[in-house]
Amino acid sequence: MGTPAPVVRILRGVTLPAPRARDGLVRTVVVIEDEQPIAEAVAARLRSEGYRVEIAADGPAGIEACDRLQPDLVVLDLMLPRLDGIEVCKRIQHDRPVPVLMLTARDSESDLLVGLAVGADDYMTKPFSMRELIARVHALLRRAERAADTTLPTVVRVGDVELDATTRRVRVDGEFVHLTPIEFDLVHYLAARPGRVSTREELLAQVWGYDVPSGARTVDSHIRTIRRKLHPEIVRTVHGVGYAIEEASACA
Ligand code: CA
Repeated sequence: MGTPAPVVRILRGVTLPAPRARDGLVRTVVVIEDEQPIAEAVAARLRSEGYRVEIAADGPAGIEACDRLQPDLVVLDLMLPRLDGIEVCKRIQHDRPVPVLMLTARDSESDLLVGLAVGADDYMTKPFSMRELIARVHALLRRAERAADTTLPTVVRVGDVELDATTRRVRVDGEFVHLTPIEFDLVHYLAARPGRVSTREELLAQVWGYDVPSGARTVDSHIRTIRRKLHPEIVRTVHGVGYAIEEASACA
């Protein structure tokens, strides 16, 4: 009879969960780059796309800005005065995973692998186009938001490994292990689809979200890192096809 009580009344006195993915808020990007013209060009382009941007000109200033602003994404130059990009990347990822797009003047594979091993999610070699930078920034943020807003099981267990999609934390045998955002997304993607083989192309499309140069090699190097950090046999290689996690159970 009459009008049903509005939902808000039912919820009064109940603590509501914080909105996910910081929806509706302006996203913050910290640009850590000592070459001022590049820093300013990147910042100007990001601001024109609606981001709030702060520039830091060396490593310690970048770490300070990340502590203070808790950015949604960091654009990080590899060669920085006082503290290099690799060390900065480790420190800003230490407490809270944040997507990092690394800028590098060098283009050798070892630099790429070092960059990815310390937790950069993606990299670009200078000189780069602003259009491509924006495409990658959008892809990294979309990925982070998709991961936060998943309809897949929240907690997935693979043997001794427990993946929690809400906190984006991983435990092996009860001990926390640090994964970069993309490592987490990759292993969670496979674990949420147990027994199904995913091709490298599928993983690039679903986890990275755009074309990565040397794409297949990028997937392989991330799988190697996941095995090293979590368990050597957590991911099965299906030769000529792709990768799979055979057994996983949803806990929540
Ligand atoms: Ca530099």
